[in-house]
Amino acid sequence: MASYRCAKCGEIVSELQPGQIRCPSCASKILHKLRENVAKEVKAR
Ligand SMILES: [Zn+2]
Repeated sequence: MASYRCAKCGEIVSELQPGQIRCPSCASKILHKLRENVAKEVKAR
């Protein structure tokens, strides 16, 4: 699951329905996608 941050008011939107990308607070359509788990565990051999 991906989270989005509104570019206008900074609201974190965790639930977005497909085809309805909009901030629930200010109704802005500009949302930046946030990566949840960027860090990966790498084991060196
Ligand atoms: Zn907003």
